[in-house]
Amino acid sequence: MRGFIDYRMAKRALVREVSRGAVPRADVCDAHPELLRAARGIGTPTERCCPICTLADERADVPRDEDVTLRQVTYVYGDDLKRKSGHIVWNRAELDALAADHQSFTAYTVECCLVCGWNHLVESYLLGRAHAG
Ligand SMILES: [Zn+2]
Repeated sequence: MRGFIDYRMAKRALVREVSRGAVPRADVCDAHPELLRAARGIGTPTERCCPICTLADERADVPRDEDVTLRQVTYVYGDDLKRKSGHIVWNRAELDALAADHQSFTAYTVECCLVCGWNHLVESYLLGRAHAG
């Protein structure tokens, strides 16, 4: 994928900061209500557990919650998209349709925890006709 950026390193660093108390949990568990709603309604479930909930479980010495509460939501941004810039994409088909209809835009995939509100960028990449093939 063109312009692919993986934000796992940044995420790990941030979780480490929260873990040692340098960053307050409230600062990273601040999902916007719209993001939470989207994550609950149309978010793609992930196989992974929320890193912040996992920290809390470890600290409280309780077994890890088996429910997968971490969802992924994809936003699209770009001048070409006009009014659709900043919108959440509902599914892969919609993303493909946008890519076929526009020259260039960026898709941002965000993970969001339904329990604690943790949210962080997972990856971003360029889409559109200019980047096809
Ligand atoms: Zn969580």
